[in-house]
Amino acid sequence: MRLAIISDIHSNLEALSATLRLIESESVDHIVCLGDIVGYGADPDPCVELVRGRCDVVVQGNHDAAVVRTEIADSFTANARSAVFWTHRHISPENLSYLARLPLQRTLSDILFVHASPCEPDQWHYIVDAEDAQTAFRCFTETLCFVGHSHFPGIYDQRGRIAALHRNGRMLVNVGSVGQPRDRDPRLSFGVLDTEDWSYRNVRAPYDIETAAQKILSAELPRSLANRLFVGT
Ligand code: ZN
Repeated sequence: MRLAIISDIHSNLEALSATLRLIESESVDHIVCLGDIVGYGADPDPCVELVRGRCDVVVQGNHDAAVVRTEIADSFTANARSAVFWTHRHISPENLSYLARLPLQRTLSDILFVHASPCEPDQWHYIVDAEDAQTAFRCFTETLCFVGHSHFPGIYDQRGRIAALHRNGRMLVNVGSVGQPRDRDPRLSFGVLDTEDWSYRNVRAPYDIETAAQKILSAELPRSLANRLFVGT
């Protein structure tokens, strides 16, 4: 089985469209979306509709949940919170109820998919380093766990950060962010897993950042949400 795993699109239609075009050349069996379809960017409805049409497994991210229940955004940064309220005002009722119905986690043949840490998935704990990953290993039993949320791609086993999948023991993979990378590399990020040869690739590719940023400015979302796309923060 070949899977493409995407996460943290954040209403960035240019990044999502480029990602889906790249996935077409990967001949995958399924596309999995790890949530945060919305928030930050200017195209919530087109992004939700593309995910609904193209992804077979989708879980709910904290921004998706906050757009449905805006009190969740009380703990967000000021810019994230204003993007949540902007999205709540602009998204269609049908897409809002789709986000509301998304599950927090899904499994597919011994692989767990969850937006943030598998520990208390509705509390959205971050996994940014090997120590966070060790905590997370106590909260799932599957061989592989795919996460997003931090927007930092990486692979971990129970000893620490590793460069590639191996066959002895469980692993946790962060696929990075399609629509708002934060590892100082502005290129979109997603993952491709092949369970036959047990290979995993983190794909990075450029997309039309100028258009995505211009739409954020035209929508009168916070200017810094446009600027950060160019530097990957
Ligand atoms: Zn996110």
